[in-house]
Order: sequence, then C-alpha cells, then structure tokens
Amino acid sequence: MLIQGRAVTEAIYKSIRSQRQADGLASTPKIAIIQVGNHAASNLYIRNKIQACKNLNFSVNHLRIDSEVPAKTLTGHILRLNQDPSVHGILLQLPLPPHLNPLEFLGQIDPTKDVDGITPHNMGLLAKGNAHIIPCTAMAICKILDHAQYDITGKHAVIVGASNIVGKPTSLAFLARKATVTVCHSATVNLANHVQAADLLVVAIGNPNVIQTSWLHKDQVVIDVGINYDQNNQLIGDINTLKAADIVNMITPVPGGVGPCTVACVALNLYQLFINQETR
Ligand code: NAD
Repeated sequence: MLIQGRAVTEAIYKSIRSQRQADGLASTPKIAIIQVGNHAASNLYIRNKIQACKNLNFSVNHLRIDSEVPAKTLTGHILRLNQDPSVHGILLQLPLPPHLNPLEFLGQIDPTKDVDGITPHNMGLLAKGNAHIIPCTAMAICKILDHAQYDITGKHAVIVGASNIVGKPTSLAFLARKATVTVCHSATVNLANHVQAADLLVVAIGNPNVIQTSWLHKDQVVIDVGINYDQNNQLIGDINTLKAADIVNMITPVPGGVGPCTVACVALNLYQLFINQETR
C-alpha cells in the first residue's frame, strides 16, 4: 500500500491555519532563507518552501548570496538576521559551496530562530529527548507514521543514511518514541541483513541503486526520503516505489511522500518559532 503524503501535508497546513486564527496575532510570521550559490536541487526546494509560506500568507526574505562569498560575510548576514525582530525563522539552505563548513554557520544561527531544528543547541536537546523544535524531515516522517496509525514503540527501525539533516535527527526522534534504532551508512557491512531485519525502514541515501527490493518483506513499513532523477529526468526515490509497494506493508512514494510533508513542516516550525517570539 502507498502512504500518500498529500493528506498529511494538507492536515499540517490546515492545523497551521486554524492555530493562527485561534492565536489571533496581528503580526506576520517571517522566514529568511539564505541561499549561497545556485545549486539546482536547492532552487527547487527553496521554490517549494517559498510557495508554501506564501500560501499561508507568511513573509519570506530570500537572500541570494554569491557562491564565492567569504565566510566572514556569510556570518555577518546570519548575525544581522539573528538581531532582526521582524525575522522569526532562519533557514540556511544546504549544501554550501565547498569552502564553507555548514557546521560553522549552523552554529551561528540563533536557536530560537532555527527553522530546520539542526543547530547544535537544538540537536543537543533532541538527543536529550527534550526537543523544542524537531528537524523538518524527521518531523515529516513521524507525522506520516502517525497518519498511517503506525506506532513505532518497540519496533526495530533501520535508518539507512546518517546525515546531520536526515538520518541522525530521525534516529533521535525515533528513540524519543521508544523505537529500537539501527543507523546504517556507507561503511555499514552487510547492509542487506540490516534492511531485512527492519520493521520500519527509512532510506535517505540519495542513490536509487543501493537498496534492492529483494531485501524487503511483507511486514515492513518503508519511508523513502531519497530525491533523485532518472535518465529521463523524472523524480525518483532511493527505492523502486512500484516494485516495493507490491512487497511491503506500506511505503511512501516519490514524488508525493516525504518531500511535500517536509516543506509543510518547515512552515509548521516557522509558525511555532513565531508564536514563541511574539508571546514571550
Ligand atoms: P547525505 O549525502 O548528507 O547523506 C547520505 C547518507 O547516505 C550518508 O550517511 C552516507 O553514509 C549514506 N550512504 C551513501 N551511500 C551509501 C551506501 N551505499 N550504503 C549505505 N549508506 C550509504 O544526504 P542527505 O542530505 O541525508 O539526503 C539523502 C537523500 O534524501 C538525498 O536524496 C536528498 O535529496 C534527500 N532529502 C530529502 C528530503 C525530503 O524532505 N524528502 C530532505 C532532505 C534530503
């Protein structure tokens, strides 16, 4: 069975709208999106995030910065946005050009304005099981599982991909929900065995040729986070959705699964940061 992201995404937007109406604040949530360079995939992700914010009548400041920007200048932009009371959320779109270390700049974002929830401070709280803000893709995955009424308590969740933006925060969010978590990565030995052992499989590699559908079985729930393009320039995930859907219990498709939910979670996090700042 396919778990379509659309219903989850619409429910998130609906909850933001009704929360905003109930809160009744006169000011407008504002996000600053910092884009360094002109990475093709980033252009698409940013366009989707801007559209989602505009649909909710949120304000967007899209800061486009030249790929050759010196580190000091990028820091200056972040510190200025930290100080700007009209900006409630700051999103530094990754990846950055090779001369800029993302960890250095993520650490400069005010944690109270951290839309992605991946600054060291907020990741630390997530690791302690005390998160104020859940990283957007991890939250999208949890919301999809909730919508599918799949309780992960005690389940063996195997996450393939250990990045700071997807794999690690998802593993921490799952631990907080009392799943038993295995995290695999490019140096993992016998990946097939780990995949086969999963009740819940999350794949976030960025390569459609790693996970074989022959490794999957009928009791599994599969979340495909991957975003890739095939030789016809069609969007595909890390798993062959159609083949896998015939095997496993449930799977999220690409397109139409985790991606749009993640965008909705950006808006949800922004709204939460806005409320925190406007009501303190
Ligand atoms: P990344 O490159 O930072 O991390 C990839 C991870 O996969 C690494 O931990 C690496 O060790 C692991 N990996 C690579 N080859 C492997 C192999 N052969 N076997 C096992 N593990 C392997 O990527 P990322 O930023 O985490 O993104 C992963 C994918 O998810 C990409 O396709 C990206 O576009 C997509 N993505 C989707 C969303 C969404 O909302 N749908 C959000 C972020 C990223």
